[in-house]
Amino acid sequence: MERYGIGVDLGGTKILAGIVELGTGKIVSSAKKKTVPAPKDGKDRDHEKENDLVRRIGDTIDEALAGSGLPGNTRFNGIGVGAAGQVDRAENVLVFAPNLGVKPNYALGALLRDRFKLPVALGNDVEAATLGELKYGAGVGCPDFVCVFIGTGIGSGIVQNGQLRKGATGTAGEIGHIVINAEGRLCGCGGRGHLEAYSSRTAITRTLLGELKRGRKSILTELLAEEGTIPDPNAASSIAIRSKIIARAIEADDELVKHVVREAAEFLGLGLASVINFYNPERLILGGGLMEAVDYLFEITTREAKFEALRLPASTIEITRTGLGDFSGLTGAALFTG
Ligand SMILES: [Zn+2]
Repeated sequence: MERYGIGVDLGGTKILAGIVELGTGKIVSSAKKKTVPAPKDGKDRDHEKENDLVRRIGDTIDEALAGSGLPGNTRFNGIGVGAAGQVDRAENVLVFAPNLGVKPNYALGALLRDRFKLPVALGNDVEAATLGELKYGAGVGCPDFVCVFIGTGIGSGIVQNGQLRKGATGTAGEIGHIVINAEGRLCGCGGRGHLEAYSSRTAITRTLLGELKRGRKSILTELLAEEGTIPDPNAASSIAIRSKIIARAIEADDELVKHVVREAAEFLGLGLASVINFYNPERLILGGGLMEAVDYLFEITTREAKFEALRLPASTIEITRTGLGDFSGLTGAALFTG
């Protein structure tokens, strides 16, 4: 008998839900919806907004279930959610998830359990994606590796002896906040010169939009106009230019985009070189939409990391992209139920 789990990758921009065959990692079906950003003002809308998040997650799960073709009496182990934020696993609440537009200590676990009458397990999104890669992705057969995901911020999951290493306070892997430039840019956390202030998707987007605003010529202006929107660099912390647009600009040999992506990749390479020296992993697995779509980013990051790291650990390190791509988080979240 096959065992099935429902996995949800809950990010700041999209909800991805899917049905996963737990014994093989096979994704039977999946569905996607926008997370919808938090309202900018109007405190009285908070309650409505919170119900809205559960409703949207529930609807995404329903869509995945409908597309699965599984018989109506199929039994599911439960629902696993990998959420972009801090999670209390024991209480099944989102402790702090500003990117999801909900108040602290949001009882996501109980709300989903009420709707689907299934057990619910919450975890962090990076933890879920790393678990997915460990069991069914680029980490298979590799006991010591680090997964690094480039997104709104930069997070990583550490695997040691085939187990996820969470650290004394459960916060191990906060690679986005390692210092790469002591007097450098201000980071979202309040610190200075942290990696994610240079190499996150948010940092790359902000730099590009700032340069456009200064009047720099770039094919981006046309590509963004085709999309119908030019994001305001000062508008939000989670602004993003779509990965495909960045990839297209680089294919067109656009000087500005190549320069900005190269700089971000070089800083990322420095950060990864420190990880290679400190942890001496067998493998580094790089993920996130931009890393998947933009070869130029992956290639420069890899070259820089190997060049900057000490000779011996650099001589054996394998740097690859994720094996499951967009589905690492969904697969790992389903495994929370297994
Ligand atoms: Zn920081």
